[in-house]
Amino acid sequence: MKPWYLEGVHFKCTGCGNCCAKEPGAVFISMDEIEQLATFLGMEKKDFLEKYTRKLHGKITLKEHPNFDCVFLKENRCTVYQHRPKQCKTYPFWPELMRSKKGWDSEKTRCEGLDHPEGVFHSFEEIRKKMEEAY
Ligand code: SF4
Ligand code: SF4
Repeated sequence: MKPWYLEGVHFKCTGCGNCCAKEPGAVFISMDEIEQLATFLGMEKKDFLEKYTRKLHGKITLKEHPNFDCVFLKENRCTVYQHRPKQCKTYPFWPELMRSKKGWDSEKTRCEGLDHPEGVFHSFEEIRKKMEEAY
């Protein structure tokens, strides 16, 4: 069966911050990403792990504030944007969201950038590349 996004999709991040906030979630982070972020923040890796991460299902994920905002979200902006984890960089092209058009459409309740009229066109090849990088 042909993927529903064979002809590509449009996407624009409006910076609304919804995907980083308001709901419980899990931003999984690799050791390489931890090292990059710790260096960026001028911290020892162990201090970074203690301050900003927690274990979930045996993996390391970013902490959330009590209101479920990501620990790195401040005034609706990512404070580590250049070094954000690949899970964040590849959103919304996650395999589980791309599995069906229905899944993509239902994600629109969270992300106003999907199929945005001013969005950047992402070809099938670009989407597949992001999907492979996602996890
Ligand atoms: S929910 Fe979508 S539009 Fe809003 S910040 Fe996240 S990616 Fe950007
Ligand atoms: S690291 Fe940045 S982009 Fe990723 S969820 Fe946290 S605030 Fe959002």
